Amino acid sequence: MTGTTPLELDLYVNGERRPANSGARYESRDPYRDEVWATAPDGDASDVDDAVAAARAALDGPWGATTGSDRARLLRRLADLIERDADRLADLESRDNGKLVREMAGQARVLVSWYHYFAGVAETMAGEVVPAGRNDFLVYTRHEPVGVVGAIVPWNSPLLLMTWKVAPALAAGCTLVVKPSDHTPVATLVFADLVQEAGFPPGVFNVVTGNGPAVGQALAGHPGVDKVAFTGSTGVGREVATAAARNLNGALLELGGKSAQVIFADADLDAATNGVIAGVFAATGQTCMAGSRVLVHRSVHDELVKRVVHRAETIKLGDPREADTEMGPVANRVQYEKVLGFLTSATADCATVACGGRPAGLGGLFVEPTVLTDTRPGMRVVDEEVFGPVVCVLPFDDEDDAVKLANETPFGLAGSVWTKDVHRAHRVAGRLKAGTVWINAYRAVAPGVPFGGYKISGIGRENGTDAVREYTETKAVWVELTGNTRDPFKLG
Ligand code: NAD
Repeated sequence: MTGTTPLELDLYVNGERRPANSGARYESRDPYRDEVWATAPDGDASDVDDAVAAARAALDGPWGATTGSDRARLLRRLADLIERDADRLADLESRDNGKLVREMAGQARVLVSWYHYFAGVAETMAGEVVPAGRNDFLVYTRHEPVGVVGAIVPWNSPLLLMTWKVAPALAAGCTLVVKPSDHTPVATLVFADLVQEAGFPPGVFNVVTGNGPAVGQALAGHPGVDKVAFTGSTGVGREVATAAARNLNGALLELGGKSAQVIFADADLDAATNGVIAGVFAATGQTCMAGSRVLVHRSVHDELVKRVVHRAETIKLGDPREADTEMGPVANRVQYEKVLGFLTSATADCATVACGGRPAGLGGLFVEPTVLTDTRPGMRVVDEEVFGPVVCVLPFDDEDDAVKLANETPFGLAGSVWTKDVHRAHRVAGRLKAGTVWINAYRAVAPGVPFGGYKISGIGRENGTDAVREYTETKAVWVELTGNTRDPFKLG
């Protein structure tokens, strides 16, 4: 594709393609080739106004009258179209963010299960008859769509993280304005074609792109948006929550992490080594759930480091589109500089570089898979999210020490426990302050399993039946049963 004309895509608003109101466009770069490969509209607040108005009108139109079964049918149709186009979507995502086509194709295929799962939820979602403690009323609840959802998405897994919002919000009967990351506008804009082909009415799903924070800011603080759903960094998450709160709107926040992989002396070290590699080098470490702190019992510390270093040194870096590549570049130059800055700070803090620690010198934005030992809390690289292929290894002496170290972070997204002792496995899983804990595994997700963060890693949960509740208001309906005239001056 080198040297070919960049793809040129338009916004998707009210079921139509159109440029930004300003006419401005910006460039999206392929991080592997370090070249412009697409351009997208550089939207602004006026484009957000248009998209929110379209989303509102759709709620007031035929979409607002759909049943759960109607919506399930559309969601299933969309699932089939995604399945049909999975390879193409994966390829677009990989061009935008440099992640392996293998990884993105896997993600595109599992997206299908998300739409089927939430189709099932749409069909079966029910209120309940509530025991009000009296015979003169029948009380029941209805779960009604919250309204217009503003969905703001990062660059690392654009379609998957968008889907975690879009599938439950559509199941609930909401409409959406989606704002993909400025670094990865393409797959989301193309995805809109599938939404249209599936038959969703105009205005139900809208996409506004833009370079820089303007579109996200306009969406988060828009008075016409009823719920903001955000995935991204903790810093921006705070701004988004503040903007939404000014409108007294709720914000669902999926934020950063600094997750601990806790490896006990009795663990299967081959499996744990594989888990460490999966946790922090898969996806070039650019995943919110990266297992970036490895806590290992002192008695097996050196052996584990030896195995992890051996595997890290044999990771095949290269073209994300080649089937045998194991690690692609960092997704964009800003992130690349950030990762290199962490490596500089680690050596300044006297961490030992067991392997990696440098740009990989392949052209593009490659960083060597990096294992740091002699690290401790208080070092920047241990305390902050790197979002790159860098793992810190810290020894511990006993279970209490391990749990204390694991929880010694303001983040609380995920974690793992590696041990053959079933008692310890469940005990420690219960003690970790994190929204997801894997036992003898890492980095598994499913549409029916809640995902989200404790502490500064987020508010609310995506996935699972509870995710739909994030997009509904609960209404209590009181039905008077006696037909008698009631005392107007008495409560109840
Ligand atoms: P980011 O916070 O910089 O940007 C996220 C989105 O917000 C982008 O679309 C961006 O354009 C937009 N944005 C930027 N400034 C804004 C503002 N002031 N108001 C509104 N929107 C604004 O994050 P990123 O660099 O795109 O992604 C990496 C981060 O995302 C990491 O911290 C990672 O941990 C986090 N993440 C979390 C999860 C999760 O589920 N918890 C999943 C993936 C990524």
